[in-house]
Amino acid sequence: MPIRFFNTYTRTVEEFAPIAPPLVKMYTCGPTVYNYAHIGNFRAYVFEDLLQRHMEARGYKVHRVMNLTDVDDKTIRNSRSSGEPLDQFTRRFKDAFFDDLRTLRIEPAADFPAATEPRYIERMIEMIRQLEHHGIAYQAEDGSVYFRLSRFPEYGRLAHLNLDELRPSGRISNDEYEKESIGDFALWKAWDEADGDVGWDSPWGRGRPGWHIECSAMATDLLGPEIDIHCGGVDNIFPHHEAEIAQSESCTGKKFVRYWLHCAHLMVQGQKMSKSAGNYYTLRDLTAQGWTGREIRYALISVNYRLPLNFTFEGLAGARSALARIDEWVSRLTKLAGSENRASAHPVAQRTAFDEALDDDLNISGALGHLFDAIRESHRLMDQSELTPADARALLNTWRSFNQALAFEAEAPTVPSNIQSLLDARQAARGSKNWAESDRLRDELAAAGWEVKDTKEGQRITARPVS
Ligand SMILES: [Zn+2]
Repeated sequence: MPIRFFNTYTRTVEEFAPIAPPLVKMYTCGPTVYNYAHIGNFRAYVFEDLLQRHMEARGYKVHRVMNLTDVDDKTIRNSRSSGEPLDQFTRRFKDAFFDDLRTLRIEPAADFPAATEPRYIERMIEMIRQLEHHGIAYQAEDGSVYFRLSRFPEYGRLAHLNLDELRPSGRISNDEYEKESIGDFALWKAWDEADGDVGWDSPWGRGRPGWHIECSAMATDLLGPEIDIHCGGVDNIFPHHEAEIAQSESCTGKKFVRYWLHCAHLMVQGQKMSKSAGNYYTLRDLTAQGWTGREIRYALISVNYRLPLNFTFEGLAGARSALARIDEWVSRLTKLAGSENRASAHPVAQRTAFDEALDDDLNISGALGHLFDAIRESHRLMDQSELTPADARALLNTWRSFNQALAFEAEAPTVPSNIQSLLDARQAARGSKNWAESDRLRDELAAAGWEVKDTKEGQRITARPVS
């Protein structure tokens, strides 16, 4: 069975068929860098990471773009109240965001375009000119340029809104607005005092882009007019993704996105997360309390992305003990596997079941169920001395392939003694600048399923599946 996803656009589960396999063009709305991202944001980014890792495990080459919104209503407001210039202010939160991605073991996107880069500002202006040329965009008395909604009858289709039932409310200049106040939205905002020194020259005078055109410009610039998968949180559906469709398709005449995947809400202790309710957490708040990145990753990833996730401290403790069970299992298998080199008689059936669960609209609870079944079953066999070293090696290999999607491995992997001796020998070879021997030992480690990287802190080793 091919991979299937629930497409927000059609509200049905569809078979996944990218435009030009094995390439998958994927666009994910990134953070607005006006503050540290909170765990609700990270739920979406962790889901997108699992999605990419699984597609890669299935042989696709994923080109993922994640944008950084570094100019919009919120970034300007917060940079002004902090007294810092916009670029200096957003740089801090961009850096923090990249640190947070590493903490959560999220693979970096191929591109992280930022809206204020000259190349993208130019592209935004070009798109707005094109829309204006076709009578779809117009400059209003306030100097701003708006998208004429009446020229795009499909508006509202992604969010499944019936426009006939909504009373249009004229023009909206805010980046975010409610479904009830549907109306022409801003593409280019004329400079006003609140913008301070933020602004770019354009055919419509000094101003700045609206949030929605930023994504249309960066997505089509880096990925072309047609994208396979576009992701985001459910909050992005309206108005942001509706606007992205309207702008992009009006410019290119092509269907912008094939599959829209949206991650459901995150609640904390059963309530909507908010600063006033005292249940608002950034990733940093949680790591400061002693939770590790992989524990938080586990807690965020382990509920199917289309279900609301109730994030609790009991849930985090559950993640901690689930990871401890995995670590204990891996270490027991590693001891049994030893260094003996004999083929296994046991086929690795769970590998298939695990991947098939993820093929089914990223059914993570099903996939984790298969992992814990394998753990229970192999403990039972080890208790009865019915598992051979070769079986243990096969199971470790299965675990490594699961882990490519999950990224749940222990911080410091349990390294068996024969592997440790190879590492020590390599360390010595490097010490005496014997690079040929060092490379040979690296290859020997790779053949045994261990990837070694040389870092400032010395050799770093990770377990990799042996192909
Ligand atoms: Zn976006």
